[in-house]
Amino acid sequence: MSDLSQPETLRKLIEESGQSFAVIEKAVETIRERLDEIEPSDPDVLAILRAHLLAIGSPSDVLKFFSLELIERADAEHARQVYLEVLDSLARSPIRPERTYPVERAMIKKLGDLEVDCALPALAVLAGREVYPLSRTAARAVASIVGSTDQTTITERLKRDDLPEVAAPDELSAGVSRALFPQKRGSSKSSHQRRRALTQKNALPDPGQSSLRPEGGRARQARLKAIVRAANRDPSRCGNCDQTAPTRVGHMIPPSKSGTDLPGNLVVLCGECRRRLPRSRDEAFEDEGAPSEADSGQLSLF
Ligand SMILES: [Zn+2]
Repeated sequence: MSDLSQPETLRKLIEESGQSFAVIEKAVETIRERLDEIEPSDPDVLAILRAHLLAIGSPSDVLKFFSLELIERADAEHARQVYLEVLDSLARSPIRPERTYPVERAMIKKLGDLEVDCALPALAVLAGREVYPLSRTAARAVASIVGSTDQTTITERLKRDDLPEVAAPDELSAGVSRALFPQKRGSSKSSHQRRRALTQKNALPDPGQSSLRPEGGRARQARLKAIVRAANRDPSRCGNCDQTAPTRVGHMIPPSKSGTDLPGNLVVLCGECRRRLPRSRDEAFEDEGAPSEADSGQLSLF
């Protein structure tokens, strides 16, 4: 029988469980209990921590602060990459208005404190979505990286060519300003109620308004496959017929219905198995390279 305290075994258990969040969390709990014996920079440990942090929208946040602390201590550069992945996913994914995303906000704050320039476009998009309190945290991180809360300064920074080109720097910086300095409007509603309404309205990303470079089918597939890989599943192997073949990743519950990018909501299928899907369900696997408006048209697979 294999030793259940070994990171390699835990990583495999996560894989065999179909990336159940409960199993990921149990693995992290085991790592926490055996911290004296394990090496945090062990690739299996890092993979488990990454899967835990990428499980955005998971039912529990408490233990994630431990994963955050440990991944930071084990490999700060690797940790930064994971924060960027989490940020990109947040900027592009549905947000649940009832959640406050404490761990994700901690990661965003770190990107701001560390002045990670390449995070700016995604941070600005998230700030402009006005999903509080996440947007406020993102806006503060922008101000921290740019070194200013001035809208014009932020616009100029977003235009500089050391960053990926953004489609609408003026709109982005306006969004940051709104999140930093919410307008006081004459209204009988409390600011809390107004913010609540705004957050509900903006919980879904608007693919037409996205000022990040539109995430084409290819980029989305790369991101979803990275999430699958982080969860220790093989994104090149079909989840239905188990063949290694060109595959695509789709959502079981589509993003338009608040389906998350959690590994448990992602399914990998080969072309042959996709062809066997009823036509409407196949739309969850939009054509590679297709523009991102397919986002809102994604349908449930099951
Ligand atoms: Zn297949």
